[in-house]
Amino acid sequence: MMTLNGLQGRSIREAYVQASSFLKEQEVQDAAVCAELLLQHFLGWTRSMLLLSWQDSFPAEREEEWYALVKRKANGEPVQYIIGETDFYGITLHVEPGVLIPRPETELLVESVLEEADKIGTPLTFADIGTGSGAIPIAMACNRSDWRVYASDISPAALAIARSNAVRCGVQNRVTFLEGDLLRPFIEGRIAVDVLVSNPPYIPARDIPSLQPEVRLYEPHLALIGDEADGLGLYRRITAQLAELPKQPTIVGFEVGMGQAEAVAAMLRSCAEWDEVRLIRDLAGIDRHVMAVRKSK
Ligand code: GLN
Repeated sequence: MMTLNGLQGRSIREAYVQASSFLKEQEVQDAAVCAELLLQHFLGWTRSMLLLSWQDSFPAEREEEWYALVKRKANGEPVQYIIGETDFYGITLHVEPGVLIPRPETELLVESVLEEADKIGTPLTFADIGTGSGAIPIAMACNRSDWRVYASDISPAALAIARSNAVRCGVQNRVTFLEGDLLRPFIEGRIAVDVLVSNPPYIPARDIPSLQPEVRLYEPHLALIGDEADGLGLYRRITAQLAELPKQPTIVGFEVGMGQAEAVAAMLRSCAEWDEVRLIRDLAGIDRHVMAVRKSK
């Protein structure tokens, strides 16, 4: 088994090769990418700085600090929590264990909703329900400067992270974060929403033991578990709350788990009149999003 030592007098490239071989040996997925991200974070460098300075000497006096990061990854911690960041739809967000790490599939939700919303054209009021890191509303605000953007979450810890992300992305004056249960803040605040989006927790509690350890042991269960039954509890509650809003949204977009899309589409169809309810596939060919659109106002 490989040991982590011997970086005295070695180059940054050699430190990278050692870490990536070590992580590979420990069966870490994407070992090479993880080693590179960890090294960028450790040195405080961008990717291009790293690529231009491969031959520089590794700061050997910080060897133990470097190995501690590599070992955290080898133990299964998500690299995004170790480096404290993730990229999402062209922005960089801070993430820590209080929030779910935004997934690439959710970028597709942002993309599809923007495309659909642009058909309406006028400046819109947007709401994300269960915002976590704030990924969705911040991406919306960064891409549509004339929208009024809101987001809710029941977790004060998540909202603190989401607010700091809005500051980091320079949109803190254009995104309003509300603490509360699903649509409650919008119902109580009489906020008329045109576009409503949610990627709520949807995993049935009984499936938690079979999740990858990287997810199960590190990501917040509040952000993962839908309910004790089929996982669809939050979609049921959101669709039931829609009728209490001061205005029916023109677009509703949900992210769903594998095999849930048809059931969620049926819930949307039965809670209101829509011109169209359609399923959207992700890059793996899984029905990942459900979008309901009302064209006639
Ligand atoms: N809306 C956030 C995201 O998509 C958080 C989702 C969640 O915590 N279930 O990343």
